[in-house]
Amino acid sequence: MNTAIVGINWGDEGKGRMVDLLSEEYDMVVRYQGGNNAGHTVVNPKGKFILNLLPSGILRDEVMSVMGPGMVIDLKHLSNETARLREGGVSITPEKLKISDKAVICLPYNVQQDILEEERLKDKKFGSTRRGIGPVYGDKYMKKTIRMGDLLYTENLMQKVRELVEWKNLLLGSYGAKADAEEIYEWLLCYGGEFKDYICDTGALLLDMEKQGKKIMFEAQLGALRDIDYGIYPYTSSSNTLAAYAPIGSGAPSMKLDKVIGIVKAYSSCVGEGPFVCELFGDEAHFLREAGGEYGAATGRPRRVGGFDAVATAYGVKLQGATEIAITKIDVLSALDKIPVCVAYELDGKVINGFPYPSLLDKCKPVVEYFDGWKQDISGVKSFDELPENAKKYLRYLQSRLEAKITYVSVGAVRDQFFKIEDDSLYK
Ligand code: GDP
Ligand code: MG
Repeated sequence: MNTAIVGINWGDEGKGRMVDLLSEEYDMVVRYQGGNNAGHTVVNPKGKFILNLLPSGILRDEVMSVMGPGMVIDLKHLSNETARLREGGVSITPEKLKISDKAVICLPYNVQQDILEEERLKDKKFGSTRRGIGPVYGDKYMKKTIRMGDLLYTENLMQKVRELVEWKNLLLGSYGAKADAEEIYEWLLCYGGEFKDYICDTGALLLDMEKQGKKIMFEAQLGALRDIDYGIYPYTSSSNTLAAYAPIGSGAPSMKLDKVIGIVKAYSSCVGEGPFVCELFGDEAHFLREAGGEYGAATGRPRRVGGFDAVATAYGVKLQGATEIAITKIDVLSALDKIPVCVAYELDGKVINGFPYPSLLDKCKPVVEYFDGWKQDISGVKSFDELPENAKKYLRYLQSRLEAKITYVSVGAVRDQFFKIEDDSLYK
């Protein structure tokens, strides 16, 4: 069984939370794209953890975790993240964690470049996490990077670093900055040395596991609307966040997915810049942000918030090819008297079909409808039948706008705060 857990919206839907819950039934969890710009929060009996680079499966001792070739890895961050988790009682060993030899290393000068460019852009900035992710993916496609495997075959490493730094300094120099080859080399040896025993061909491993009938889960970072090709470009991430990319970004391009579980938040949030049609402002936004604790896990930035966006979500479900949906954070809406929902987009005064080309989004206006709230704590609810009538109505509405069936509903951040829907209650 190969299952992908992916975000349907702009990210922060609760993917880490769902991977933590569902990975109980899996042998392996693979992160297939992105870097330490991810912030996956997990609350389980071991405590509360924020994962940036490590797959959320790392919190389960019996699960093998894999960091695939589609990822970009800041070694210093990885070193700190593993240390932090070990302090929290999580075991991380070369048997339990495998890192692809083809994953690209995010170097200190990539971070430097990211910060310099965001500062140069001032109010036109992209809202980058400033962790070097855009620059390092750019370098990857220019074939000017160091990969994890290069830490195993080091004869020419210093020479390679020198050449890269010479090239990068042509660019950094134009910002009045500079990188140093010796420093980069030392950084690689210092933080890379620690992970030498973890590096392998993850593709061979995955195919072998599949042959043995093991269950493999693929964990996405960010959501469909941040996919570099299909999202709200250029306000996207710099990698493919979609389920279709999971096998490629994991090392085994020929693998097929049996299931794609799309994670949909019961309302919307978006970190950083870019068009966000369903956005709420003022007191309404403030109230929802506080109720949902919508502050970035990776950066602490306040997230922009909005009502559920039926247009963007339908597009996300299609892009992901979701076979099932998990709704998260519906408990947060218990605080609202009236629940706003963006039911359609209007462009030049006309309701449009589908999600438009990104540059048109700035001109789109949300068509908003309000649903009655239920004003009742639902964080302990264990079945659809136990929900207040208005929460049932709200979920039935969400189902009517989704092409895949809602099978899980999360009503809290803690591992067991959820229920399943296995019958047709949502279609009544
Ligand atoms: P991810 O990036 O998709 O993994 O999501 P984040 O971890 O960045 O953001 C989701 C936040 O909501 C985290 O703080 C979770 O602990 C929390 N969370 C997840 N599911 C629920 C839920 O159903 N209800 C509530 N109240 N919080 C949730
Ligand atoms: Mg997040």
